Amino acid sequence: MEQKVSPEYIQTSLAASLTLGFQQGSFHRNARLKGLNLLLHYEEGCLGKCHFCGLSKSRREGPKGKTFIRVDWPLYPLEEIIQRTKGKDQIHRVCISMITHPKALEDTLYVTQRLREETGLYISVLISPTLIPRENLLDVMKKAGADRVGIAVDAATPELFDRLRGKGVGGPHQWDHYWKVVQMAASVFGKFHVGIHLIVGLGETEKEMVQTIQRGQDLGAHTHLFSFFPEKGSPMEEHSPPSLGQYRRIQLTRWIINEGLGSASQMKFDENGRLIDFGTNINPLLQMGEPFMTSGCPGRDGKVACNRPYGNERPSGPIRNFPFMPEKEDIEDIKEQLEISSLSSFLRKQESESL
Ligand code: SF4
Repeated sequence: MEQKVSPEYIQTSLAASLTLGFQQGSFHRNARLKGLNLLLHYEEGCLGKCHFCGLSKSRREGPKGKTFIRVDWPLYPLEEIIQRTKGKDQIHRVCISMITHPKALEDTLYVTQRLREETGLYISVLISPTLIPRENLLDVMKKAGADRVGIAVDAATPELFDRLRGKGVGGPHQWDHYWKVVQMAASVFGKFHVGIHLIVGLGETEKEMVQTIQRGQDLGAHTHLFSFFPEKGSPMEEHSPPSLGQYRRIQLTRWIINEGLGSASQMKFDENGRLIDFGTNINPLLQMGEPFMTSGCPGRDGKVACNRPYGNERPSGPIRNFPFMPEKEDIEDIKEQLEISSLSSFLRKQESESL
């Protein structure tokens, strides 16, 4: 029997499957997809063993039963995906996730080239740095039609990275190599045509997360933020997601750093590494709402195309990454979730103590 594997077959996110009409339905609050997320598929699955990931080899279910960033990823023929994507104005960008598999690089190049040539859409590749030992492989990817790459660093510190993705789980990934590839990618694709994925809530402090966002910024990579979600059957299924307060504060610091409105060195943290001062006036940023939207690669309009509806939370909410502009009531909720009153009372105490 013919095996349904890449490059002839490829998985789409559930949102992409709905948008392309493979399945019927619509999203809560009418969230509309602007970025088509695709994932290579092999019988053996991903050879990484990352503790928190739904695709990990250490997860109990086989590759077909797996979820990734919380949602299902149905499998379709590449040909049909291309035909259904053509002329869909709603879609601004396609993202191809490589996963860690010996065939992934070759297949990613093939899929990138076909999608770029046949749909004319912008293409991001979420690369697996472990499969990229040399810079010229990134040149080849650019020539195939990708204009941006994402690198899923995921864990904010070398210790967490090693424990959850590297030696600690017998996995192949290495922290230093990931950052070397961030640098190589910025030189091939250009500064800020590179994004790093970071997952809040893997055990890092807010200070550590902010410093890693700043590290990416200094190297020419914006941060695309995710909130940890315990994937069922993964070794971290019992680990709690980060508190909403923690996630909101990191969303706002990411916006401040990536938009060049401030830097990690201007922010203040308490003795537990919790953020207590953003180092800038946050009121106008709160009113905008945009800092709390999904962060990802941009589309034709320069706004985020990769809005991954409900990739981090159940649609019943509360929404962590807004796939649309938050409304007035959402902003009121966000202000409460940020626990600003506790921040400012701490600051007042600090000020009175220093008098
Ligand atoms: S932000 Fe989205 S489009 Fe960009 S690399 Fe990450 S998953 Fe792909």
